Amino acid sequence: MSARLLLVEDEPSLARTLSDRLTAEGYEVVIAADGPSGEQSARDGGFDAVLLDVNLPGKNGFDVCRDLRRDGTDIPILMLTARNELVDRVVGLKLGADDYLAKPFETLELLARIEALLRRSKAEAPASPTATDGAHGYRFGDIRVDFDRAQVWRSGEDGAGTEVACSALEYRLLRFLIEHRGEVHDRDRLLDEVWGYDATPTTRTVDVHVSSLRQKIEPNPGRPEFIVTVHGLGYRFDG
Ligand code: CA
Repeated sequence: MSARLLLVEDEPSLARTLSDRLTAEGYEVVIAADGPSGEQSARDGGFDAVLLDVNLPGKNGFDVCRDLRRDGTDIPILMLTARNELVDRVVGLKLGADDYLAKPFETLELLARIEALLRRSKAEAPASPTATDGAHGYRFGDIRVDFDRAQVWRSGEDGAGTEVACSALEYRLLRFLIEHRGEVHDRDRLLDEVWGYDATPTTRTVDVHVSSLRQKIEPNPGRPEFIVTVHGLGYRFDG
């Protein structure tokens, strides 16, 4: 079943572009073009997540978010802010948004955030006892990555799986490496592709996350066989 997204965005061309792209990824998208109608649709329910612009006619995104939370609406909210200032992020998160993304952003980044948001909200819902294979996934070694659920699983001797807890960044990094397996990526490319919107992390950040990811997915993290170091160049996924 595809997830339903409510996109509250007043700029028609951006709304259409995002909606087309999200629809192509299998989401069902409903657009609201101003604050009050977006808030009403979110209250009416039936959505898995809200993508909420900040600067909206009628009522701004911060106020919409605050009022939804105040009234107990617990739908996941991703704020799309045109301003990249720390104060906006802090305000948004304080008002109860689950995540924020500063414009302009890469669609890939948006998709990763939506996946993480949906995954988190599913994790908070009562757990389903059986983790079935998503049609959309990837296996290597004893690891299975479920792209539909944005989850990483390790299979045990008896065929049962245990979920490998990954941060959103670790998951995005792993997914990017898998989708570009066999290619060598230098650290700057990984920063651009995985961290994207945020220019503050250093190349050292990449090494730290690769290292933590290896601890989780490599049979022997000291001698990695999947995320391999290409000396002087960067990293490559072999799996
Ligand atoms: Ca706007």
